[in-house]
Amino acid sequence: MRGAEHRGTVASYIPPLASVPVAKFGLAVVMADGSVHAAGDAEEAFSIQSISKVFALTLALGAVGDQLWNRVGREPSGSAFNSIVQLETEHGIPRNPFINAGAIVVCDVLLGRLQPREAIGQMLRFVRELAGDDTISIDEIVARAEQETGFRNIALANYMRAFGNIHGEVDLVLGTYFHFCALAMSCRQLAMAGRFLMGDGRVDGHRVVTGKRARRINAVMMSCGHYDNSGDFAYRIGLPGKSGVGGGILAVAPGIASIAVWSPGLNEAGNSHLGQMALERLVQRTGWSVFEPRG
Ligand code: GLU
Repeated sequence: MRGAEHRGTVASYIPPLASVPVAKFGLAVVMADGSVHAAGDAEEAFSIQSISKVFALTLALGAVGDQLWNRVGREPSGSAFNSIVQLETEHGIPRNPFINAGAIVVCDVLLGRLQPREAIGQMLRFVRELAGDDTISIDEIVARAEQETGFRNIALANYMRAFGNIHGEVDLVLGTYFHFCALAMSCRQLAMAGRFLMGDGRVDGHRVVTGKRARRINAVMMSCGHYDNSGDFAYRIGLPGKSGVGGGILAVAPGIASIAVWSPGLNEAGNSHLGQMALERLVQRTGWSVFEPRG
């Protein structure tokens, strides 16, 4: 991207992410009227990683409603995505569903009613329906690599189990979590899948969530969607968003657009460096912001 001094660093904790070329860049914007604007590598599937936490949260709220908030908070953590320190003082209740510990609890909640295979199938059906695209898949190589190297996530899950906040078998909960992280989607598919958050919870006349729930998921994305960089993202971009270490970001301009950007080079907080820059330029040019006075 013009004006960018560097592209950040590609995640290196698993080989399938480490081998993604840093030069990749894609952007897709789906407008409220359904028109799609795509640029660069917008059709290439990448590992959505923690962006899947938005879809998992939506499914868990659908399954158990606000009871979910008894087991996971909705406050920014101010810590890294995989931090264990707060869990000690906060009795195994993760700060929010968008850090790893919180997303692992969300998976455990889903497994309260489903077997892992069913929960993974439900997730796949959900994102395919949201995106209107049956070709979306889970990258089994990524899922396996996550499993083989996920010692910190294994520690988080066991630690929360010790506090009684994981009810199922840790292995099964994590297997589900790793498969969610391994969802592979393109910017176009991701922006399409985010449409339910830009309106009143409906997509193509079909209700996905209530308008109130869509607003609340957006609120959690706004305050917690970028790890310990969430305040800065809100300040610079002013839209709800969720990032993943694969270099993707899903952002929502309520009433206006659903936006997905992908560039695998990350900043120190684990967010796409060029992705954030691109979103910043987009909102500067369009004036899109949830803080923009209307009417
Ligand atoms: N699979 C990654 C992990 O659990 C997800 C990290 C992320 O995208 O934030 O460590």
